[in-house]
Amino acid sequence: MIGNQGKIVLNHLQRAIAAEEKQGCCNTGVIGGFHLFLKGILSRLEQLEKDGDFNVLKDITNHYKDWSPLQRRQALAHLRRFIEEHEELEAQGQAPPVYDSLKPVNLEYGGPGISKQPQQPKPSDIPPASEPPGSDKKERLTRPTPPRSLQFLKGVGPERAKLLAQIGLHTVKDLFFYFPRRYEDRSLRRIGELKDGEFASVAGKVVAGQIARGKMKVVKLSIEQDGRLVYGVWFNQTYILKQFPVGTPVIVTGKVRWQQRVPEIQATDIQKAGAAQPAGIVPVYSETARLSSKVIRSIVQGVLDQAPELFPEFLPPEEGKGWVLRAQAYQEIHFPRSLHSLGQARERLVFEEVLFLQLAVARLRAGVQRENSPQLKGGESLVQKFFANLPFELTHAQKRVIEEIFRDMANTQGMARLVQGDVGSGKTAVAMAALLMAVGSGYQGAMMAPTEILALQHYQSLEAAFNPLGLHVVCLLGSQTKSERDKILAEIAYGKAHVIVGTHALIQESVQFHSLGLAITDEQHRFGVKQRTSLQTKGENPHVLVLTATPIPRTLALTLYGDLQLSALDEMPQGRKPIMTRKLTERGRSSLEKFMEEQMEKGRQIYVVCPLVEESENVDLISATERFESLQERFPNRRISLLHGRMKGVQKEEIMAAFQKGEVDILVSTTVVEVGVNVPNATVMVIEGAERFGLAQLHQLRGRVGRGGEQSYCFLLSDAKSSRRLDVLCETQDGFKIAEEDLKIRGAGELLGTRQHGIMELRLADLSRDGRLVEQAYQLAQKVLAHPDRYPRVWQECDQFFSLEDIGLH
Ligand code: ADP
Ligand code: MG
Repeated sequence: MIGNQGKIVLNHLQRAIAAEEKQGCCNTGVIGGFHLFLKGILSRLEQLEKDGDFNVLKDITNHYKDWSPLQRRQALAHLRRFIEEHEELEAQGQAPPVYDSLKPVNLEYGGPGISKQPQQPKPSDIPPASEPPGSDKKERLTRPTPPRSLQFLKGVGPERAKLLAQIGLHTVKDLFFYFPRRYEDRSLRRIGELKDGEFASVAGKVVAGQIARGKMKVVKLSIEQDGRLVYGVWFNQTYILKQFPVGTPVIVTGKVRWQQRVPEIQATDIQKAGAAQPAGIVPVYSETARLSSKVIRSIVQGVLDQAPELFPEFLPPEEGKGWVLRAQAYQEIHFPRSLHSLGQARERLVFEEVLFLQLAVARLRAGVQRENSPQLKGGESLVQKFFANLPFELTHAQKRVIEEIFRDMANTQGMARLVQGDVGSGKTAVAMAALLMAVGSGYQGAMMAPTEILALQHYQSLEAAFNPLGLHVVCLLGSQTKSERDKILAEIAYGKAHVIVGTHALIQESVQFHSLGLAITDEQHRFGVKQRTSLQTKGENPHVLVLTATPIPRTLALTLYGDLQLSALDEMPQGRKPIMTRKLTERGRSSLEKFMEEQMEKGRQIYVVCPLVEESENVDLISATERFESLQERFPNRRISLLHGRMKGVQKEEIMAAFQKGEVDILVSTTVVEVGVNVPNATVMVIEGAERFGLAQLHQLRGRVGRGGEQSYCFLLSDAKSSRRLDVLCETQDGFKIAEEDLKIRGAGELLGTRQHGIMELRLADLSRDGRLVEQAYQLAQKVLAHPDRYPRVWQECDQFFSLEDIGLH
């Protein structure tokens, strides 16, 4: 028996599996590597159930790293089954069945060919009811909730339960957390008041039906409402004609096109009028091929009344004033009565999410001491030499921030500073100065980056700048071989390495610093809470510097980063020419290619970024691969390379290094270049399927060019008719303005789920515009922290909501 603790562990596993799948099974679903996460889970389970049988988990843990994404996907399915069976048997008070260990891998389709051989369940000595009560308060407060398998819900059944499981939905609670992607307004409309381009529902009677044959069969129903006509249009769905014959009263919903005399509705839904149907504001969920939004909607609707039980109010009455009740918020976020009540529900949930995050962060931080940091003020001459070697003059902002940093570093209080500066504002130079100050004072400096590519990039530029000063720079990555790694680890431990760059590999236990004086985290928002604090715990109270391009309100910074001081790099280096940004449709491709040729003729380099196609890693890779091949055909004499997230570190390293050295003309990639990469000679950024990217992401991508003195260009390929987002990008280059516009564009219809901030712990909150809620949550969090005993329910719910293990290594 693994008990309640075990259930929590399995729950983390479940969420990590969902994240891993979402990221295309690249072993990146958990920062630090999914396989390492599994290792942690395994050891937790083994502790909880000494003689448990965890062979499946063990095998997957050992091999996961080496499998292909396809094999991994199958392994994840097995993990899910492992969880399910544990849960079911746990509920029945039995030990889970014993599995055969994994069969050898079949490279074609077999994947990790687990043959499941359930054997007689082992009788367990302890029935679940006699679970010893936990010793601490939090344990006692946790009500043992029975696992609610979705399979037994009305309208679900084993098949659908499986489909739901594939998108990470295993329990009723998961359903509640599956927030709608957007909403549709289904209030019935008059034909006369329809507007081109809007989304609407119209009631009327079918008066004619026809099929127009062309490349696709176009089904057209003529629907009459009080003497006026509207056409309902479908593609290839000929059954519509039979299902809704002439004379049927219907309600048809979809996007309005009104360009000829009679308006058309490109239908997403049709119902017989009078049948029970959603009305008013209706949620739209992310769907999969076999699980439509409509089905999900009805399943969610079926569990709505469980909200009060699942989401008990935790705010004491005096704090609860002004907020929608918790359970009601969870109901309204799915089925709002009005846009107004949707807004209120969302506020309540954002508040709760941020509150819980703050508490979780606070608890983590409680373990980290912040005093007795070394005084780092002996690096002045190194720093001066570095400045003298720089090919440019520092901006005023850079100088100011560097001064702020040096002042902190000279202090035993310990620096905790966040430097925020838009893409291209020159954060790296600031970091370099800080590193030199540390090294000159006899300490080591470390810099952690969220991706291998970025870490490598930093490594290359640090090495180039620091070698001439006689410093030794090393780079630590997850993908290095053992012997490479051991050598580097030794250099770090003996102090031979002055400056250490790396990914989250830096925070693993095996890394022992000789004398870490400064810990820098780049592109901070990409890391989980746990990673953020881990680097600080290495060495003796190093000074901490974090760099980010995301504009963050002050209260929010408080939330996420605790007592960090803020520095703003609010000035761009001189002489930057604005990046010419243009939208292009497919028709413009040939002239674009001509332009690319001209640029390459001038010796410039080009990025071509292919979109991430949601839910499908394969399609994603295919789109990049196809583009790569077609470019090779188009430019047979040019050097073209393909880069994607699933490559081995060494491979990525080689390609990036070659691109950096100018040995590659066109770099075709998936979004791996998004963060921080710096190749000043690259002047053209081509973004394919630009409408698929978020505004913030597009801004980041564009920031990869325009880093040198040459005129740079960004082309947004998109066949989307009109896109305000792309227009905004063409109009401005100011990160703050773009963030603002982003808020405006995402109106009520897109309230949820865009998650562009990339802070992985938050499902709902949008940090750039929820400042007030963040502030309110901050106030309450302070009270809760000051008087934990007064708020037992808050802690209890917080534990259920967030667990730090599922975002970090354990
Ligand atoms: P980010 O803030 O996005 O991390 P980087 O530090 O990568 O930006 O800097 C972007 C580019 O600008 C680099 O090529 C860097 O060498 C250059 N750069 C940095 N500071 C200055 C400056 N003061 N003047 C001119 N170029 C600069
Ligand atoms: Mg950077």
